[in-house]
Amino acid sequence: MNATYDTVAHNVSKHDAIAAKLDGLHNTFAGRRANHLGYPYNLEFDAELISQFAKFLINNLGDPYVGSHYATEVCGLEREVVDWVMRVWDCADPEEYWGAVGASGTEGNLWAMYLARETLGDPVLIHSTEAHYSLPKAAKILRIEALTCQADDSGAICPGALREIVHANRHRCVILALTCGTTMKGAHDDIGACVNVLARVGIDPSRRFVHVDGALNAMVLPFVDGLPSGIRPSFRHGVDSISTSGHKMIGTPMPCGVLVVRRKHVRRVASTVSYLRSDDTTLMGSRNGHAVLAIWNRLMRLGIAGFRHNARICIERAEGFAKALCSAGVPVLLNPYSLTVVFPKPSDRTVTEYQLACHGNCAHAIVMPNVKADLIDRFLGDYTAEFSCKF
Ligand SMILES: *Cc1c(COP(=O)(O)O)cnc(C)c1O
Repeated sequence: MNATYDTVAHNVSKHDAIAAKLDGLHNTFAGRRANHLGYPYNLEFDAELISQFAKFLINNLGDPYVGSHYATEVCGLEREVVDWVMRVWDCADPEEYWGAVGASGTEGNLWAMYLARETLGDPVLIHSTEAHYSLPKAAKILRIEALTCQADDSGAICPGALREIVHANRHRCVILALTCGTTMKGAHDDIGACVNVLARVGIDPSRRFVHVDGALNAMVLPFVDGLPSGIRPSFRHGVDSISTSGHKMIGTPMPCGVLVVRRKHVRRVASTVSYLRSDDTTLMGSRNGHAVLAIWNRLMRLGIAGFRHNARICIERAEGFAKALCSAGVPVLLNPYSLTVVFPKPSDRTVTEYQLACHGNCAHAIVMPNVKADLIDRFLGDYTAEFSCKF
């Protein structure tokens, strides 16, 4: 250590400067959070409720059902989280399923693709043009051949186009990745119809693996009344895995996700690692226990009733939002049971101010539980003023 440089005075000013920098960042974030409309993040969580754990390194090392020698862990809570989500996704017998909390929805997709490939050998992956970019990326990493299937204008996969692709590949094993709430348009693939397509072409369950990417809406649709059964994220369709993000509808202060998969697929890849005193069934070795705590805290506090309430108010607000744009003459897309309102891209200034996600000429806002009437009204005012000048 440099004695002349590292004086007490220097240390005091250094720590003051760091504190000032962190305070500045904190204030910036508070402003940005209040204006956020573009990404499907439920910012209505209270991190104070679990802040007492900030001083611990919580690591759910290894398999959630086995644990490890590292004792500051919450594998028990992780299993409660997974059981809760299994019930939401209609797992008849939880013993037949395996689940884990991971780093994100992306990790869930990647791990599902890995399990599918290990199950099927040399499969072809089929996903729609509207699927999340993490799916083609997973295919690339895993060297799985990927084919894209056309989606309709709403953003949902076309069962007719799917039938043609599956038929052309009927001698192969097929991974089908479907989406419950597409990233740009918030569309829902008809899971029931797509599984039927596979069956009718003659791809029996031993030659297929169906994954449902439900990053946002796998934690919305199960809580909606009167939902058409085909789009319900449910293992009753005979799918093999479903994933969601923790920081989207659930609401956590860090990115995270949950994957549930039929246990037989995990058994195949499990190898015992004595160093861990655990089974090696997860992509990551060390896994974020704080994320598990954050998800558990939300699920337990909200309960089914809280999720039902959030789903209902968000869908209603999204409908009001879309209606207001329509009456201002704005062409708008809002899929049924969706929180994603799509409209023509506004000026860069408005895009930046509301942190809108854009694709081509379109932008979207996503009505999450923290997106209340005042924010929507402020945005509508800015947007329609600009829109009526431009068109
Ligand atoms: C957000 C999203 C993902 C990725 O989830 P992350 O948790 O951000 O990694 C995957 N699929 C869809 C449909 C998404 O909207």
